[in-house]
Amino acid sequence: MAKSRAVATDVVYLDYNATAPMRPEALEVTLSTLKSVGNASSMHHSGRGAAARVDAARRQLADLLGCSPGEIIFTSGATEANNLALRSAHARGGILATTAVEHPAVLETARALTTGKPDTLVIVPVDSNGIAEMEPIYEALRAQDVALISVMLANNETGVLADLAELVEAAHEAGALVHTDATQYIGRLPMDLADLEVDLLSLSAHKFGGPQGVGALFLRRGATLPHRPLMIGGGQERGWRAGTLNVAGIAGLGAAAEAARLNVRAESVRISGLRDRLETGLHAHVPDCQINGSSVPRLPGVTSVTFPGVPADAVLAAMPHVAASDGSACSSGAPSPSHVLLAMGRTRDDADATVRFSLGYATTEEDVERAIKAAADAVAQVRALLATTAET
Ligand code: PMP
Repeated sequence: MAKSRAVATDVVYLDYNATAPMRPEALEVTLSTLKSVGNASSMHHSGRGAAARVDAARRQLADLLGCSPGEIIFTSGATEANNLALRSAHARGGILATTAVEHPAVLETARALTTGKPDTLVIVPVDSNGIAEMEPIYEALRAQDVALISVMLANNETGVLADLAELVEAAHEAGALVHTDATQYIGRLPMDLADLEVDLLSLSAHKFGGPQGVGALFLRRGATLPHRPLMIGGGQERGWRAGTLNVAGIAGLGAAAEAARLNVRAESVRISGLRDRLETGLHAHVPDCQINGSSVPRLPGVTSVTFPGVPADAVLAAMPHVAASDGSACSSGAPSPSHVLLAMGRTRDDADATVRFSLGYATTEEDVERAIKAAADAVAQVRALLATTAET
């Protein structure tokens, strides 16, 4: 009998912003590390082996980011990294400033930290393209004591990019720290922390082909951040994050970081070509569709498409072989319209009619052609159904 092997399913996976498939290099290293014993804090041979894997991964991630290995704190992901950054910076006293389109791990943390003191939180609006209107932050920097400014580098729903250079300069002049949630950016576009002079940066391995449940916070050497670990215990990660290190996850993160670093330039060009083709194809079949944030710089692999009058959940249900995502946040079980699209001035109906397709390193031309056809058919089917329902 022929030996069975993993066969690709017939699902077109276009949900890289939710999670990317593991890169083969990362999968191999994660699995082989899981098979070996060793606590990275133990002094014996097995422990030193585990510590060596963690050291190698720290170096691989530092190379991807353009920082030094000593500036990395491994965490369980970007949620934890964001919480750690905001909580610690908040302990400096002063204002927290952020934008209306941040991930809840930033926005809700900022709200929770400033509960009862609304004047210590500045949330700036965005324009119709999703670009933050920074003036209220500059005003706060001129007038008051700002502890931290947190602005995401790439939006998870639209892919819209932020240009942080001017903000970082103004913040540093005023003695404020700058954090960026770069979860969707890392591994998708080249990064150099020698140029982008933020003090803190969060990331999650599973967005660039590493395993889920592992990530990191970059903390620039010399940044004056009060020590407020979320996890207190054995003092791992220089006291910033106690708990036995997730050696296999960290090793997988390192392998994914290396693969991403070696391929990011070529991949970003190839993927943005595929994204453009997807958008052109969707426009050809559904001429009234609108691409959110399309007139400003975006990540290469993301498109947020509104099909006016067509609920996104119905479109997704009508194309079961395409894995994409609707614009709603339903992690709590109660779907609510995307706060990102609402902040960009879209109506609730438009937000509910928005599908996010996110492409990545393993996406093929065939995937894109199949997704165009499936989405066009799905939209036509739902529109026909809505028309019949309206008639009856
Ligand atoms: N920030 C952004 C921008 C994200 O897209 C995500 C994941 N959706 C997170 C933070 C949280 O990442 P994780 O769930 O891996 O902690």
